[in-house]
Amino acid sequence: MPPVLSRLFLLACAALATGAAAQQPSTVAITRIDLGHGLYMLRGQGGNIGVSVGSDGVILIDDQFAPLTPAIEAAIREVSDAPIRFVLNTHWHGDHTGGNENLGKSGAVIVAHHGVRRRMAAGGRMEAFGREVPPAPPAALPVVTFGKDLQLHLNGLRLVAHHVAAAHTDGDAYVWWPEAKVLHAGDLYFNGFYPVIDWGSGGHIDGMIAAVDRILATVDDETRIIPGHGPLSDRKGLQAYRDMLADVAARIHALLDAGKSVEEVVAARPTAAWDEKWGKGFLAPDAWVEMVARGILRHASASRPQQGDPAAHRH
Ligand SMILES: [Zn+2]
Repeated sequence: MPPVLSRLFLLACAALATGAAAQQPSTVAITRIDLGHGLYMLRGQGGNIGVSVGSDGVILIDDQFAPLTPAIEAAIREVSDAPIRFVLNTHWHGDHTGGNENLGKSGAVIVAHHGVRRRMAAGGRMEAFGREVPPAPPAALPVVTFGKDLQLHLNGLRLVAHHVAAAHTDGDAYVWWPEAKVLHAGDLYFNGFYPVIDWGSGGHIDGMIAAVDRILATVDDETRIIPGHGPLSDRKGLQAYRDMLADVAARIHALLDAGKSVEEVVAARPTAAWDEKWGKGFLAPDAWVEMVARGILRHASASRPQQGDPAAHRH
């Protein structure tokens, strides 16, 4: 990754963790990649944006942070004068939904999985970062919500959004345009970095792997894949990410099954073989291993509440 992009990514992640960026005016440059069929990928600060433009208007997949809305709108105006009609959020995190209030007030219809609206409306604690997220203002909330999937038929293309079982959070969806062979994976895919697994929002590494498998079964070698973070990718890149996730998950499961504590799991360095390639992003290897392990334990304790005293478990 070029140093500038790397720096922006780190800034975005720092903002995700602290919420600091939301109060500062933006000097971030928005870059645009043309994917054909009126589809674009925008990068700025925060989650990557997918755009569909055409005679029916503009559809956005995610909208980064509130201060970036004017720059995002300017980047879109260079390819379309049509209004932004829909914003589809891949999940509830502020680096993907921060522009919702601005765009909602401008008339865009915000669409997301039921769980995105529920978590945004309630606010909550991102336990992996120890950060409290306040409830979102009403104008930022999705007004159309879906459960399993949803389709939009605009700009001569079919857009399909699929919800997946608990993965990065419990309200993730990936979005694809089958005819155009473009897919936005949201934060199910961090291209080049260990991914955040927001276990306080129901995230779990096994769900990440299952979601990635579902996407791999959906796309072909020509499909361009927009990751939630990192550069534009493809099936081969996603497969490499899947291989890393599966190996690390198996090692961490084995350590936990053997009765190791979270501290012991971290000390065993289950990511050692992968750190050179994946461990230089926002999450250092130790932090990521702890996040994965805590997600597994949270899920395990939540799914068998009637097995007696939770304190009997070592973890
Ligand atoms: Zn996220």
